[in-house]
Amino acid sequence: MKRYQRAALIGTGMIGGSLFSALKEAGAIAHAVGFDARREVAERARSLGIVDEVAASIAEAARAADLIVLAVPVRATESICEALAPALSPEALVTDVGSTKREVLLAVFRALPFPERFVGAHPIAGTERSGPEAADRALFSGRRCLLTPAATTRPEALADCIALWEKAGARVEQMDAAHHDRLLARVSHLPHVAAFALAAAVGRAETAGISAGGFADTTRIAASDPAMWRDVLLANRDEVLLALEALDEELGALRRAIAGRDGAKLESLIARAKESRRRVIDPDSEGGGR
Ligand code: NAP
Repeated sequence: MKRYQRAALIGTGMIGGSLFSALKEAGAIAHAVGFDARREVAERARSLGIVDEVAASIAEAARAADLIVLAVPVRATESICEALAPALSPEALVTDVGSTKREVLLAVFRALPFPERFVGAHPIAGTERSGPEAADRALFSGRRCLLTPAATTRPEALADCIALWEKAGARVEQMDAAHHDRLLARVSHLPHVAAFALAAAVGRAETAGISAGGFADTTRIAASDPAMWRDVLLANRDEVLLALEALDEELGALRRAIAGRDGAKLESLIARAKESRRRVIDPDSEGGGR
């Protein structure tokens, strides 16, 4: 595997910090340079050993870098690519970690001089925490990382990106960016919208300080970073709206069964939900348990 002599991390938060910690630990990076919207955050990443040096600008971070990783909210991609374009080496591998892929790819094609050296990536791992202190070098170990190469992506760039994520411990899979966004709208973006709505709805009521386990379990992800999720939901707007239609239908069915005191219907809706959950989380297991 290639050893990157100068790797630039744009966005020194949880996901970028986890990736660079894992790559440094694996010996895949000789020298890491970090840039963040707030210098103080990049300085914290340096003191944690995630990067070795803090750059004053995106162009400074990118200059002479053979690896550039964008680990920022997805809608910042285009302005960052514009800022790094003048300093970009034609041989550098550029990749990202964003939770949506189609809009990121379009931004890269608009703003980068060598978009064929860019490979979109989305590690399916993370937590509701953010910032460099939440970085964990084992975060991607055994987890999937979805790569979404374009038709014009150079095979060497794709091979390097696969090797990079495997070095960080991930299991790499490839798929088309539009397919990625459709899938993730359902398994990740919709659950976040539901958790945000649920947490806000419960928060409106008098709770007398009582917080049951069900509330904590279903709303853990509502504690996620607002800026990151603003960008994900707007970047994947059409797919998220389609997924929300399905949620509206299910809520409507539950509401009608409750309002109509239809116990049999309610029981069958809950049983169907339980089976759906099993199929999504563990498709190989047998259904039927309680
Ligand atoms: P994070 O911990 O908040 O880190 C992102 C960092 O980027 C923050 O320090 C942020 O600064 C900085 N930033 C924002 N705009 C910037 C800009 N224009 N230039 C330079 N730095 C900028 O967030 P994260 O969880 O690592 O998420 C990073 C990316 O990973 C997102 O695209 C997200 O979709 C993706 N992702 C997240 C997860 C997850 O579970 N969190 C999982 C997979 C993928 P400020 O805080 O000052 O804005």
